Amino acid sequence: MTQKTVGYVELEWTCTYCGTRNPGTQKKCSGCGAMMSEEDEFEAPVQQELITDEAKLARAKRGMPDIHCPYCGTRNVAGSEKCKHCGGDLTGAVEREKGRVVGAYRAGPVPDVPCPYCATPNPANATKCKKCGGVLQKPTETPPAKPAAKPTAAPKPRSRVAGLAIGAVGVLLSICAVAYFVLGLRTTDTPAVVQSVMWERSIAIMEERPVTHEDWEDQIPAGAVIGSCSKEYRRTQSEPAPGAEEVCGTPYTIDQGDGTGKVVQDCEYRIYDNKCEYTVNEWTVVDKAVAQGNDPNPQWPRMSLQSGQREGTQAEEYVVTFRADDGDETYTYHVNSADEFSRFGVGSYWTLKVNTFGNVTDAEPAR
Ligand SMILES: [Zn+2]
Ligand SMILES: [Zn+2]
Ligand SMILES: [Zn+2]
Repeated sequence: MTQKTVGYVELEWTCTYCGTRNPGTQKKCSGCGAMMSEEDEFEAPVQQELITDEAKLARAKRGMPDIHCPYCGTRNVAGSEKCKHCGGDLTGAVEREKGRVVGAYRAGPVPDVPCPYCATPNPANATKCKKCGGVLQKPTETPPAKPAAKPTAAPKPRSRVAGLAIGAVGVLLSICAVAYFVLGLRTTDTPAVVQSVMWERSIAIMEERPVTHEDWEDQIPAGAVIGSCSKEYRRTQSEPAPGAEEVCGTPYTIDQGDGTGKVVQDCEYRIYDNKCEYTVNEWTVVDKAVAQGNDPNPQWPRMSLQSGQREGTQAEEYVVTFRADDGDETYTYHVNSADEFSRFGVGSYWTLKVNTFGNVTDAEPAR
């Protein structure tokens, strides 16, 4: 998150003795002459206007919190050596608090507020009625927006009924899974005879062929032929970058401790980059050489590679078909290796382990 400065505003403070609201940079109450104390806090005025006066702006930009005289409490400008009120030594004087968020920054005009004594409309920032001189209270504010940058949608709470239903389905599914597993494990010994055997061996034939992919421009491998590109959203980062889209939150005001507020907003930067199609030559399966047989001696297919071709992955499959001793039922059994496969001579007798689903899980020579 980058904190961007929008500008500076004058804050205000309310006199604890007479209730008069005073401009933040003013240290003495304009209503009763009381000094602003260390306990009095700066607040955001109802009407906030960015400071344009150059001298005031320069001071606000320094952002140095005022200090309170340890002897008489008078507010003094940061860096003062002696209290302007009592002349006391200000070394080691306490600085005012700084950095507190005083609220959202409200730009634009605020409606006039009627005087509680004579009903004359007065500007929202006015502290005294322009007609009768009555003290005007600060108008009740709309709740200040939090300086949150990103509105995040809260996940909707799932209804209780839906939750229960999902829970029930989950339980049922687990019961099914366990049942399936248990049934799959239970086997019956079934005497059977080998009826036929089948093997198949294959080798992939590969060639370098152009293949098209898509990736960010800076991720494309060297030597690729780049096709069409388009700008696409890639990521969000906290630091600005050329060409990035700036996304900022609601501006808010921070107490600087000197009667002014710094208006800031938190910003993020959406980066858009080129995504491109590119073509590279890659070894690609273009064909397959296959050998098959119904004998116990599997062979690899004879290869006749053309120039620019090479062998790819090999695959082998061995299937034994049994017929049950006591009926017409047949079972197919997949064997992993040629060695094992060679044991299944056609006409030989075996004891099969057949599970509930009718699948052969193991085979042993019949005793
Ligand atoms: Zn006062
Ligand atoms: Zn003093
Ligand atoms: Zn009035």
